[in-house]
Amino acid sequence: MRSSQYLLSTLKETPSDAEIVSHQLMLRAGMIRKVAAGLYTWTPTGLRVLKKVERVVREEMERINALEILMPMVQPADLWQESGRWDDYGPELLRIKDRNERDFLLGPTHEEIISELVRKEVSSYKQLPLTLFQIQTKFRDEIRPRFGVMRAREFMMKDAYSFHLTDESLQQAYDEMYDAYCRIFQRLGLDFRPVIADTGTIGGHASHEFHVLAGSGEDAIAFSDGSDYAANVEMAEALAPSGERAAPSQDKQVNDVTGHEVSAFLQPLAVDAQQAVQCTLVKASDDVESEAVMLVWRADHELNTIKAEKLPQVATPLQVLDSEKLMGCHAAFIGPVNASMPVIVDRSAAALADFACGANKQGQWLTGVNWDRDASISAVEDIRNVVTGDPSPCGKGTLQIARGIEVGHIFQLGKKYSNAMKVGVLSETGKHETLTMGCYGIGVSRVVAAAIEQFHDDRGINWPTELAPFEVAIVPMNMHKSARVQKVANDLYQQLRDAGFDVLFDDRKERPGVMFTDMELIGVPHQIVIGERNLDEEMVEYQSRSDRDKQKMPITDVLGFLN
Ligand code: ATP
Ligand code: MG
Ligand code: MG
Ligand code: MG
Repeated sequence: MRSSQYLLSTLKETPSDAEIVSHQLMLRAGMIRKVAAGLYTWTPTGLRVLKKVERVVREEMERINALEILMPMVQPADLWQESGRWDDYGPELLRIKDRNERDFLLGPTHEEIISELVRKEVSSYKQLPLTLFQIQTKFRDEIRPRFGVMRAREFMMKDAYSFHLTDESLQQAYDEMYDAYCRIFQRLGLDFRPVIADTGTIGGHASHEFHVLAGSGEDAIAFSDGSDYAANVEMAEALAPSGERAAPSQDKQVNDVTGHEVSAFLQPLAVDAQQAVQCTLVKASDDVESEAVMLVWRADHELNTIKAEKLPQVATPLQVLDSEKLMGCHAAFIGPVNASMPVIVDRSAAALADFACGANKQGQWLTGVNWDRDASISAVEDIRNVVTGDPSPCGKGTLQIARGIEVGHIFQLGKKYSNAMKVGVLSETGKHETLTMGCYGIGVSRVVAAAIEQFHDDRGINWPTELAPFEVAIVPMNMHKSARVQKVANDLYQQLRDAGFDVLFDDRKERPGVMFTDMELIGVPHQIVIGERNLDEEMVEYQSRSDRDKQKMPITDVLGFLN
């Protein structure tokens, strides 16, 4: 690319309305321009970086055999009525009408559309498991769009969805996706952490978020210095009554469990009974359509309490519910969970434990999903008020608190959508089986901003090579006065392009200082400076963006050096 034919649009001054460094630098480097609150145009430089993130994401999705599709951004309301989210989603959902007064929405996510596709296209167990993904625009009418593309209203997401006959198959796909996410963020050169996460309005079972560590991050992450344990502190806050979350009886986190999972859960519960203070009732909930089991613990509440020693009795009412009845029903476990009384759950009980909720002494709902992916045990805890140095709930090490930017989020949805939307296949024995689902998002456009939060200095953006809009800049000195400089620059440009490099040839009639400043601002990792004086010795000057290391090298060495 020649600068003279390109749209560089760099800015000298820091825009006053941009609060965080990535927003400032994306504006200054001419990567994005604001159209309205939370709506941005990606200029050529920005789009190049966005495409590079997309490329890495796409390659890693394809590596785990996920198939790319493209779904419409505008979605019909009837599918959302079927799943129940038309009423549940809240004001982030932008609802629109067509000319016939029919209801539509701008997709904030695509579970309904993918469920519609799969229930029509997939009819046999032989077609499973199946993972589909897209890289596409999402719209969420965020209450506070801010920080540029970090929290936009329209943004780019990679969303993948997987479909399975069994929980084991889902777990396997989830683990593969988890590993693919780790590879993606590693390849992008980011300092990131996977953390245990709340499942939010999407609902469902296990969930992890991937956070890029940065002081400007909106989320607080508690992680242990003695193990891999890490959790989003938001999990606790998300369920506090002051928040938007509904009371637990309407909690959208309740989900289907099997009898097997319930009994698996009870056993470790009993093991831990000595530590429990008081425990309360097992109750069939009357608020959900299907039968529901609500296992409620409260430490200091007048509800019928059962002494800890009698805990095994709690099992009785559960045992009378036969497992067939429990299949596909909703259940929630709500615990007292004061910090001194962690509830230890065996990993085999994860599917039930992961939507455990906690109540604090005022009976407020605190805690969501909780188990450590890699540990055999974990604890339900209130981590809302933890501070650096508190013991880690996993039992190993102490907690550190860091700020994080959520760049990815994976969920085991279970049958939430496939029950509601009747997504099933014929099994090997000819029986109709409802599928179990996973969904997996990456905020592709947010990744760009998050990377800048980690890779910048006082001169601008300092991209890792995998993300840079251009890999090499050719910066000729006074080219318009020197035929020799012009020839060498042109030849090198051609040679590097032929070798497959993304090259920006700064052929503008600008002072060298202006060129250097721009190349450093947009963050080109390698600069080749071509000047009359060095050409006397057939040399050029190489300058690295990251460490500003300068060295002279023969023109003929440049290609080999960059390779
Ligand atoms: P957040 O907690 O930041 O609001 P979320 O939990 O609502 O994000 P998910 O539903 O998990 O988001 O969507 C998957 C990914 O999409 C997120 O991990 C994030 O990287 C990205 N994302 C979500 N909302 C936005 C937004 N408003 N702007 C840019 N990216 C977003
Ligand atoms: Mg959100
Ligand atoms: Mg979130
Ligand atoms: Mg999320």
